[in-house]
Amino acid sequence: MSEDWTGPVTTRLRCCICGGDTEGDEDYVVIALHAAPSDAIQYLGAHAPHLDGAMARGFTVEVTQM
Ligand SMILES: [Zn+2]
Repeated sequence: MSEDWTGPVTTRLRCCICGGDTEGDEDYVVIALHAAPSDAIQYLGAHAPHLDGAMARGFTVEVTQM
């Protein structure tokens, strides 16, 4: 069994849309939030289909296997 991709953080984050577990989910995405003028970055995890549903019309989430 291969390790789940976790992106820039060391563990899988819960989905920021539904609050559900993302472990083992192939459609997992990580979102990085930056707020000027701070250098702080907040990472959010999500199921790609849930993020897709939460985004404005015309924006889509494309999942690319790394
Ligand atoms: Zn979700």
